Amino acid sequence: MSARILVVDDIEANVRLLEAKLSAEYYEVLTAYDGPTALAMAAAEQPDIVLLDVMMPGMDGFQVCRRLKDDPETRHVPVVLVTALDGRADRIAGLEAGADEFLTKPIDDVMLFARVRSLTRLKTVIDELRVREASGRRIGVIAGAGSRLGGTGGRVLIVDDHERQAQRVAAELSIEHRPVIESEPDKALLTARGPVDLVIVNVTARSFDGLRFCAQLRSDEATRHLPILAIVDFDERPRLMKALDIGVNDLLSKPIDPQELSARARTQIRRKRYTDYLRDNLDHSLELAVTDQLTGLHNRRYMSGQLEALVKRAAHGGEPVAALLIDIDHFKKINDGYGHDVGDEVLREFAVRLASNVRAVDLPCRYGGEEFVVVMPGTRIEDAERIAERIRLHVAGAPFRVAHGTELLTATISIGVAATIGPDDTPDTLLKRADEGLYEAKSSGRNKVISRAA
Ligand code: GH3
Ligand code: MG
Ligand code: MG
Repeated sequence: MSARILVVDDIEANVRLLEAKLSAEYYEVLTAYDGPTALAMAAAEQPDIVLLDVMMPGMDGFQVCRRLKDDPETRHVPVVLVTALDGRADRIAGLEAGADEFLTKPIDDVMLFARVRSLTRLKTVIDELRVREASGRRIGVIAGAGSRLGGTGGRVLIVDDHERQAQRVAAELSIEHRPVIESEPDKALLTARGPVDLVIVNVTARSFDGLRFCAQLRSDEATRHLPILAIVDFDERPRLMKALDIGVNDLLSKPIDPQELSARARTQIRRKRYTDYLRDNLDHSLELAVTDQLTGLHNRRYMSGQLEALVKRAAHGGEPVAALLIDIDHFKKINDGYGHDVGDEVLREFAVRLASNVRAVDLPCRYGGEEFVVVMPGTRIEDAERIAERIRLHVAGAPFRVAHGTELLTATISIGVAATIGPDDTPDTLLKRADEGLYEAKSSGRNKVISRAA
């Protein structure tokens, strides 16, 4: 997965070095040499990650980080602070400023890429939720944004068979949270399914496999969103990398520094509350407003919000987005010949065929009447065309089962295909090209796929 990374450092050689390493792994790199520029770029360019040097003249990394985290427009962007080698004090100050991660100089490549990968994953989830929240807010479903969400008063589950260490961790956390200790993984899994804000797992435990436990948390529907802070031995690099790969959110090295523990716990809990807040608004109030009642597909409003974000990202050099505009052929005849109810049934069955012929990341939507749109992230026009052809065949190839005697009803569709081509693209220009393709498909005989490259 590629990402846009903003690298901030006052020393040009440092910027160039990171830029070279990241570009070699196909990340897109933006650069800034001072705090104010970094803030402006973060707001304007919406990077996926900020790699921020602590020591800069003028505005230092802590100040930049605090400003990024205070601004609702950039709060969600993960910040990695780059500190000096023995920068314990820096790390704690950084966590207080809201930093998500740390790397020490000189930067270890393996750690760099592991951190970037795990933060990119997190950012993708947050972006998805934010887009949906934004579209919900625009249509007036959600009343205002969440208030500042704190990181204290959390329910913390400590999973550790090392009694003294667990007690020390619990004692430190009990100053501002409510910790509980479990020494057996099976019991811990049950507890984790209850109200918990953070799980701290000792992956160096002797009596159970801590990494396995983390993987179990990640695979269980009820616990997979829980933040995990793993206690690791920094000398055991393979386990440490494995932990990040499994999806552990943060690492704490032994011997445990109490201040660092509480700062990291607070960061994780604050972040969880933020994603919970987004997710809750989504689950409870948005579902109805984003769904088409007849077909259960996404509705036009929802599609528009998603498409806008995706096209904007594509226009800024992100992955291309393709769109299919689909219209049922001679649908009026179906209504006239069989009745409106049968027409509705055809729409419903078509929706099922459509949804089962696109990928999980694609967004099939009812655009209105007997028109549908499929938004396809990360898709080139040739691939979109291929998928459109598959959908067309799947509709024309088998009759629709409708409640009208024994008669079998065949329907066909026409599809216009377009994909983003440059920085000037908007949802309108994209859909307009798809519409031109559709028009051509209709006027040249229907039951066709026509794509418009430009
Ligand atoms: P073409 O091949 O050119 O697309 O012809 P068409 O008949 O499909 O197109 P037209 O736009 O003339 O007619 C669309 C019809 O779809 C008209 C409208 O009454 C009907 N329709 C729109 N929404 C619904 C619906 O929710 N249920 C039913 N049953 N019919 C609908
Ligand atoms: Mg129509
Ligand atoms: Mg039609």
